[in-house]
Amino acid sequence: MESGELALRESIIRQCLWMNESGLNQGTSGNISVRYKDRMLITPSATPYARMEPEMIASMPLEGDYGTWQGPLKPSTEWRFHLDILRARPEAGAVVHTHSVYCTTLAIARKEIPAAHYMVAAFGGDSVRCSAYATYGTAALSGAALSALEGRNACLLANHGMLTVGAGLDKAMWLAVELETLAQQYYQSLLIGGPVLLNEEEIADTMRGFGSYGLQDEPKEGAR
Ligand code: 13P
Ligand code: ZN
Repeated sequence: MESGELALRESIIRQCLWMNESGLNQGTSGNISVRYKDRMLITPSATPYARMEPEMIASMPLEGDYGTWQGPLKPSTEWRFHLDILRARPEAGAVVHTHSVYCTTLAIARKEIPAAHYMVAAFGGDSVRCSAYATYGTAALSGAALSALEGRNACLLANHGMLTVGAGLDKAMWLAVELETLAQQYYQSLLIGGPVLLNEEEIADTMRGFGSYGLQDEPKEGAR
């Protein structure tokens, strides 16, 4: 295995461990994928992150034999939306999916996150949408996620969780943390009478500054 690929596999495991230790995700829920050259590296299904070794991460072709994989374990059941997002967005290098508590709470209520805080602009617009519901692991869920992602780099998944898309894995995880924080803040504002939303101009002003704000991805070998 090339050193660049090994390093990416190790970074996937590091981020999986971190997202559970930090409370962003629980158990074997959630999954991570990263683009490596013409393939997608993705966490194996239902594998405790503490037991994950670099060679257990599945590798799938981005073009060609859709759904085939290399590796000793089955890829995440959510390989479809990971693959479809990386295929649809050449600029995307990584996808993070979690069942983080506040995002999932809003997704259970099928609520999108409106412009309750200027940080919503980090996700590409004045809201983070909640997708239509579809069974986990299905092509229908992938389609619903892609629709909810239009013009955005994150969405909630109805009665399920959330996902973020970054140029690299560090950026996708940074977005995941920011999204969960935003979800918690919005949820809590609903408990005290509801938010005062920012208007279009206020969000547009924030978006203008956002080209240079936020974690800047270091281009990683093969990850773009
Ligand atoms: P996997 O363990 O198959 O990745 O599934 C976890 C999950 O979050 C399904 O939506
Ligand atoms: Zn899930």
